[in-house]
Amino acid sequence: MRNLLITAIILVISVPVQLFGQVKRYSFEKGLMGSPFKLVFYAASDSIADEAAKKAFGRVEELNEIMSDYRDGSEINRLSAQSGSGKWIRVSKDLFDILAISRSVSEKTDGVFDVTLGPVVQMWRHATRKNIFPSSEEIAAARSKTGFSKMKLNANTKSVLLTQKGMRLDIGGLGKGYAAEEAVKELKKLGITSAMMDAGGKIVLTNPPPGSDGWNITISNGSDSLKTLRLSNIALATSGPTYRYMEYEGVRYSHIVDPKTGIGLLFHVRTTAISPDGTIADALATAFSVAGVEKTKKILKNFPGSTVWLVEKSGDKLAEWNTLRQ
Ligand code: ADP
Ligand code: MG
Repeated sequence: MRNLLITAIILVISVPVQLFGQVKRYSFEKGLMGSPFKLVFYAASDSIADEAAKKAFGRVEELNEIMSDYRDGSEINRLSAQSGSGKWIRVSKDLFDILAISRSVSEKTDGVFDVTLGPVVQMWRHATRKNIFPSSEEIAAARSKTGFSKMKLNANTKSVLLTQKGMRLDIGGLGKGYAAEEAVKELKKLGITSAMMDAGGKIVLTNPPPGSDGWNITISNGSDSLKTLRLSNIALATSGPTYRYMEYEGVRYSHIVDPKTGIGLLFHVRTTAISPDGTIADALATAFSVAGVEKTKKILKNFPGSTVWLVEKSGDKLAEWNTLRQ
């Protein structure tokens, strides 16, 4: 009886909050993983909202400690440092999960997505800083230390074996999508079910804002708005016009690299991928950028529930392929 009474009181208190829309919109922003992270959600009080934002951003910071390529002591760099030692290294659940997703995307995309491209990415970062185009020998040497099949995973023991010395893992192609998914999980734990997490262009959405049928998400090319979609309970990632590219003798090379050549993409303009999961959406935006229109038409079939809008240069013109539903 006492329990019943408590339930009744809770109902009376919670009904007006639901009925009269007393949930408020909150937005927070923080620079994380080298990008602005924006969080928008609906919550019943300022104190819940502050707590939720703290937890969500805190989770991203925790992931950055594990995945950061820029810190020698990060878990991923310590793992790479053991490459070629013949040892299976036990890793955290987060690192294992992200490597397992990467591996599966590599297999389903005929290797255009490859998390072992670290040596090549490092070479280009160095080249960009010095403004020297690497020699074909340097590119070949870096490429020889890559290949997703050289990364072995054991799901039972959550262990990883990198079979060749000098390998380096780089999760830049899907880490922000994973972080966005994990941040949203923190919000759900606090009962927040209408949320948008934008992790530097990798967006995870839960239920629509109260009283509406979706979040308005605008895809832009950096300066102009190109398309606005109304979405909920889905993820969307865009790769493309970015400040990170290498310009050499007037030619711009993307920071997304074709694993087959070891060189940054020349023809890519912009890719948006929509998927039920944020990590997959992020990985696919990178993968389809490498694959280009024709190959993407084939490999998209391996990702049921995902759609893509891909734009690339074709001579002086632009070629595009768009399967987005709206
Ligand atoms: P962002 O939008 O944050 O720049 P992307 O999702 O477009 O990131 O991925 C680009 C990053 O992914 C690069 O900076 C690099 O770290 C990594 N990368 C580059 N080429 C590939 C590839 N072919 N497969 C997987 N990861 C890649
Ligand atoms: Mg990506």
